Amino acid sequence: MAANPSTLTGRHAWHDGARSSLASARLLRVAGLTLEYRVRERVVRATQQVSFDVYERDRFVLLGPSGCGKSTLLKAIAGFVTPASGSIELDAQPIHGPGPDRVVVFQEFDQLPPWKTVLENVAFPLRVAKKLSRAEAKERAAHFLEKVGLADFAKAYPLTLSGGMKQRVAIARALAMQPRVLLMDEPFAALDALTRRRMQEELLRLSDEVHFTLLFVTHSIEEALIVGNRILLLSPHPGRVRAELNSHQYAQQSVGRDDFQEAVARIHRLLFENETKVS
Ligand code: ADP
Ligand code: MG
Repeated sequence: MAANPSTLTGRHAWHDGARSSLASARLLRVAGLTLEYRVRERVVRATQQVSFDVYERDRFVLLGPSGCGKSTLLKAIAGFVTPASGSIELDAQPIHGPGPDRVVVFQEFDQLPPWKTVLENVAFPLRVAKKLSRAEAKERAAHFLEKVGLADFAKAYPLTLSGGMKQRVAIARALAMQPRVLLMDEPFAALDALTRRRMQEELLRLSDEVHFTLLFVTHSIEEALIVGNRILLLSPHPGRVRAELNSHQYAQQSVGRDDFQEAVARIHRLLFENETKVS
């Protein structure tokens, strides 16, 4: 990492008090995580020795350029990728494969089975993974559809919805599972700019209302600053931790403000300058 302590290089270098409460408990601990793909004889290293902690109610963002291993990190935490080395603990327990305590929302609009209505899409995983009765699952599904503003679309089919609405259904479905941590992999990247902004705002409102812990992946610096309260900067391929910083002071209204633009510029420098020096 760069040496100047006056810039946001070190861990917690920005402001203190990033976490809304000092009493919040550590939920997720990622330690020395190296992730690799084996492609025939070759080994592709996706991340190298990545460590971070996520606390309850955090909106923790993994930010880095395309190919730096963000999705692989999320998949490892979801339990789909086994670490080459290092560890992942949830509530101080090592994770073993996927589980309903971690739910992923992806970028793609086709993550909803098209033959199920919106309500069935949200209710079905509750029946399967949470063993809820039909009535309980429907009730909970309706509750979370209302939270994302889709109460009127319960009987619609995904094909009839816009991209933004499909992502809302995916978010409702994930939140209805009441996971320990909600994992989102560039969930708004395929939306038009206006819808994307609205979805970022809604996600922040939901996090106030529903009180979940979020691990959010993006390659957009602005989105990271808006959505996150803490941001982990990852170097280009293979992803290593460049810095960790606090961003709770920024929201949608900050965009265009001088301090926001300065933060964007500084993060840009941290991500892309001194590449040879850091790696
Ligand atoms: P990001 O999400 O940050 O764009 P990824 O986690 O998708 O990055 O990819 C990290 C690295 O791992 C990249 O070099 C990518 O080419 C490689 N990679 C991703 N998935 C696979 C795979 N299934 N097989 C081999 N290499 C992969
Ligand atoms: Mg990705």
